[in-house]
Amino acid sequence: MQLNPCVKHKVVRKMVREFMETELRPIDAEIDRNARFPWEVIEKMKPLGFFGLQVPREYGGAEIDSISYAVVIEEISRVSAAVGLCVTVHNSVGAYPVVSFGTEAQKRRFLPALASGDRIGSFCLTEANAGSDAGGVETNAVYDKDGYVINGTKIFVTNGGVCGTSLVFANMEASDRPGGGAGVFIVEKGTPGFLVGEIEDLCGMRANPVSSLFYEDCRVPEENLLGKNGDGLRIGLAALDTGRIGIAAQALGISQAAFEASVKYAKERRQFKKPIGSFQSIQNYLADMATEIDAARLLIYRACALKDAGRPFGPEAAKAKLYAGGLSRRVTDRAVQIHGGYGYSKEYDVERYFRDAKVTEIYEGTSEVQRMVIARAVLSQPA
Ligand SMILES: Cc1cc2nc3c(=O)[nH]c(=O)nc-3n(C[C@H](O)[C@H](O)[C@H](O)COP(=O)(O)OP(=O)(O)OC[C@H]3O[C@@H](n4cnc5c(N)ncnc54)[C@H](O)[C@@H]3O)c2cc1C
Repeated sequence: MQLNPCVKHKVVRKMVREFMETELRPIDAEIDRNARFPWEVIEKMKPLGFFGLQVPREYGGAEIDSISYAVVIEEISRVSAAVGLCVTVHNSVGAYPVVSFGTEAQKRRFLPALASGDRIGSFCLTEANAGSDAGGVETNAVYDKDGYVINGTKIFVTNGGVCGTSLVFANMEASDRPGGGAGVFIVEKGTPGFLVGEIEDLCGMRANPVSSLFYEDCRVPEENLLGKNGDGLRIGLAALDTGRIGIAAQALGISQAAFEASVKYAKERRQFKKPIGSFQSIQNYLADMATEIDAARLLIYRACALKDAGRPFGPEAAKAKLYAGGLSRRVTDRAVQIHGGYGYSKEYDVERYFRDAKVTEIYEGTSEVQRMVIARAVLSQPA
C-alpha cells in the first residue's frame, strides 16, 4: 500500500524520534563531553537502514525520498548534531556519488558495504591550501600501468577516524591520461598507504571523529576512479548540492532542539514572580524562532521536492543551507540568552547547541560560497 507522502513523513519522524530519544538522548551530553563516537548506538542504527538512506534497494539500501531523508537527519541532529553529521556525510557525499556516478560494477562492489554501515563513508576534498577553492587541490594521482598512485593530505574529514571508504579528490594533471583535471577515487580502509591522522579537537560536533587522512604512495586499481578522468570537480559539486540539503536539515534539527529547550525554560523559570515567558521580550524571541524554523523547513522541503522531481535544485539547496545555517546560529544564541547564566553552563544542552550550530555556516561550502552559488543563478536569469 502506498502511503500519502505527508503521512509517510510523519511516520518516519515518529520512528526516528522514538529511536533517538531512547538510544541517543541518554548519552548526548556525555559523547560531546568525552569527544566519543557512540559505536553502541551506531551498531543499532546499521540494521535499521540509517546508512543506506539514499541507496537503491537492489544494492541493499532503504531508497527513501529526499523529504524523508531531511526528516531523518533533522531528527538525529535534534538529539546529537555530531551523529547527524556522521549520517548525513556518509549518505549524501560518501555513498550518493557512487549511486549517481558509479559504473554498475562499482555500485555492486562498493554500495552494499556502505548501505549496511559496514564501511562508514567519508568525502575528502579539503586540504591545507584548498578549502572554498576546491579547484586548488594538490593531492595528486599519477597513472602507472595497473592503476593510480595517490599522494597527498586531506584535512577536516568528517568520519575520518572511523571511515571504511573514502572518496578522495585528486589532481590528475600529472597522470598523463586523457581528461586531466581532477578525479575522484574510492579508497578503502586497509589499502597500503592510506593512513588516519589525529582526531581534531573541535569547538562543536565533538562526538564526530573529524580527522586528517594521509595518502602516501597509495595505489588503487583503475576501477576505483569514479566517473571519467577530469570529472572530479563536476562530481564534487553535484555531491555538495545533495550534501547541502543534509547540512540544512542538520542545522534545522539543532534549531528545533534549541527552540524546544527555550520554550520549556520560558515556562519554568520565574523572575519578578512570573514565568519569564510572560515577558514580551522573551515572547518575541520565541515567536521569531518559531517563524524562522518553519521558513527553513519549507526551504529545505522545496529543494528536496525539486531533487526528487529530477529538476535542477542546486541554488535551492544553497538557499536552504544558507538560511538554515544562519538560523541555527541565531536560534542557539537566543536560546542561551533565554537561559541567562545557566545557558552558558554545560548543565544545560543549549550550550552544546550553540557550539554545534556555528559550523553549519562553514562546512560543505561557507555561507559566502552559498551566496556565490545563489548569485550566479540569479544573474544567469534573462533580464
Ligand atoms: C567540523 C568540520 C568538518 C568538516 N568536514 C569536511 C569533510 O568531511 N570533507 C571535506 O572535504 N571538508 C570538510 N570540512 C572542511 C570545510 O568544508 C572547509 O573548512 C570549508 O569549505 C571552508 O574552507 P576553509 O576552512 O579552507 O576556509 P577558506 O576557504 O580559507 O575561507 C576562509 C574565509 O574566506 C571566505 N572566502 C573564501 N573564498 C571566498 C570568495 N571567493 N569570496 C568570498 N569569501 C570567500 C570563506 O567564506 C571564509 O569566510 C570540515 C570542516 C569542519 C570544521
